[in-house]
Amino acid sequence: MKPAIRSLPEDPRIAAYRDAVRAMREGRFALDFDTGGGDLIGELGDELKALADHLDWHLSHAGKLHEITDNVVGGLLLDDVLDRIFDSFQAVIPYDRIGFALLSDDGRSARSCWARANFEPIRLGSGFSARLEGSSLGDIIATGQPRIINDLEAYLASHPQSHSTRLIVSEGIRSSLTCPLVSKGKPIGFLFFSSLERNAYEVVHQGIFLRIAAQMSALIEKGRLYKQIVELNQRLTVEQAELQQLATRDALTGVLNRRGILDQLASQFSRACRGRGQMALILIDVDHFKLVNDRFGHAVGDAVLKEIARRIDRDLRQYNHLGRLGGEEFLVVLSDDDSAHGPAIAERLRQLVAATPISFEGAEVPVTFSAGVVQAIDPAMAGTIEMLIAVADQALYEAKHSGRNRVAHRVIAAPSE
Ligand code: GH3
Ligand code: MG
Ligand code: MG
Repeated sequence: MKPAIRSLPEDPRIAAYRDAVRAMREGRFALDFDTGGGDLIGELGDELKALADHLDWHLSHAGKLHEITDNVVGGLLLDDVLDRIFDSFQAVIPYDRIGFALLSDDGRSARSCWARANFEPIRLGSGFSARLEGSSLGDIIATGQPRIINDLEAYLASHPQSHSTRLIVSEGIRSSLTCPLVSKGKPIGFLFFSSLERNAYEVVHQGIFLRIAAQMSALIEKGRLYKQIVELNQRLTVEQAELQQLATRDALTGVLNRRGILDQLASQFSRACRGRGQMALILIDVDHFKLVNDRFGHAVGDAVLKEIARRIDRDLRQYNHLGRLGGEEFLVVLSDDDSAHGPAIAERLRQLVAATPISFEGAEVPVTFSAGVVQAIDPAMAGTIEMLIAVADQALYEAKHSGRNRVAHRVIAAPSE
């Protein structure tokens, strides 16, 4: 049997309700119609108006949230994401301050990592840490629900042990909304919205707060991971520089090692060849160093090498380079500007080392060195780096054989035009 069709009563309000439903379907929620007295049709009208208000509020918030999320998504680093939240959330949540705290790896405490406010000073800032056990934050994690405190002074009076509440109350904060942040089902921290006004947060808004918190969790997690990647990258760059340093520095003396100084020499040589600049090398060999080891021991020998390198390095200008070729041999590469003074610089260095014995653990060790200097007026004429070094070595041999503790030099002249 078909159900009987019942006709609606003839009531003008029914037509008004129909028009209102159509208006809502078209996105217009500011409804204005008469619901009449307290009869059933009147109650239906009141419900219709309440529904319109509810939909209006939710849709406008959802729209704003969408806009905000688009904006926040643009932030890459965590601080940037949080700044964007601060700058754009005022439309959906009232606040004068936002704080952010992360859970520790063991999940037992929360550490404040970021805070920003419309006022100064912020007393509960970065670095503040609190244990979760027995605290209200622990309850928020356990329930996954946001918490609203609409009168923090009253809350403090009943929880005088809460140091964090005392701090934000001293900032002037009167109400707060704490949202748990959850990523992939695991709690990661908290977002604290707080207001200078009492009763700023309504329980009725809890649903939207939770949705915001869910969206923010994903963004914050992204920002946090990105920050970790950036920090990792920075660490790798530093470590790479340290490795590079280790690869080119002599472990004993700290000056360039053989590879480092020969690299310097190669780049200076090709620069000089291109620009027709001059260059000069000083090849240094400590005199009778074997005797130093024999008389004073290897440790003293090491200290002597360190001190010789220190004295020479300190005296050289920064665009000249010193390296240890090996054993008790050093090489100085002089820049174009200083190369004309090669023999004089070598002589100054020789005196600097010979003038004062080196003291180490009670021993006074007199040391000298011999040096061979080569000046190349036109380095390209010298042929190769190896040839330059060979000529410096000849000069050094001469210095050794004419009595040591002296400088000998050779000039590779420019070809006559
Ligand atoms: P010359 O004046 O002819 O250069 O005599 P020398 O004794 O300095 O030359 P020789 O080449 O005979 O000896 C070099 C010595 O340097 C031998 C070696 O044990 C020592 N030596 C090389 N490297 C180191 C080092 O790192 N530490 C110490 N303590 N000694 C080193
Ligand atoms: Mg030697
Ligand atoms: Mg020697």
